[in-house]
Amino acid sequence: MTAASYWSELVASLIPEGEPDPDLFQLTLAGFHILCLSATSLVIRGLEIKVLAQLGYTPLLEQCVSCGQKLTENPMITFSVKHGGVMCTVCSNKAALQNLCNFSHEALNIWQQLIKMDLSKIHRLRITARALSILDEVIEEFLIAQLDYPLKSRPILKKMLSAAEE
Ligand SMILES: [Zn+2]
Repeated sequence: MTAASYWSELVASLIPEGEPDPDLFQLTLAGFHILCLSATSLVIRGLEIKVLAQLGYTPLLEQCVSCGQKLTENPMITFSVKHGGVMCTVCSNKAALQNLCNFSHEALNIWQQLIKMDLSKIHRLRITARALSILDEVIEEFLIAQLDYPLKSRPILKKMLSAAEE
């Protein structure tokens, strides 16, 4: 119930009013369906990433948002909500005083996979607790930046999930 009410709040907050969107409607229904089967943190991150991608709010994930460099060789990467994407090691160090979120190659890889992945297959993904927590923090900040306000049901759901998944 908590996960479903968060999903409703998320979709309702992100969609532009009065514009019919059959694909988004399908995703919304599919989201309720999968939450009935398993409302895990990973499934919720998957839904967040999918709805963001479908509405065109995908951050820059393929290269550094600041200098354009490929990220593969970078030992440390961060996520800049302000710039809307991932930052390479050099740019992260330069921008250290700005509010950068911790990020990792695993979190980046999972984000990219979740955009394309069929919802029914999300539970097969293997992800470390650390990457899951990084995605949670980054998506929270990213959503606040898009909406200008925090979603009310997100912290309630987070509390319930962390108690259930401990
Ligand atoms: Zn850079």
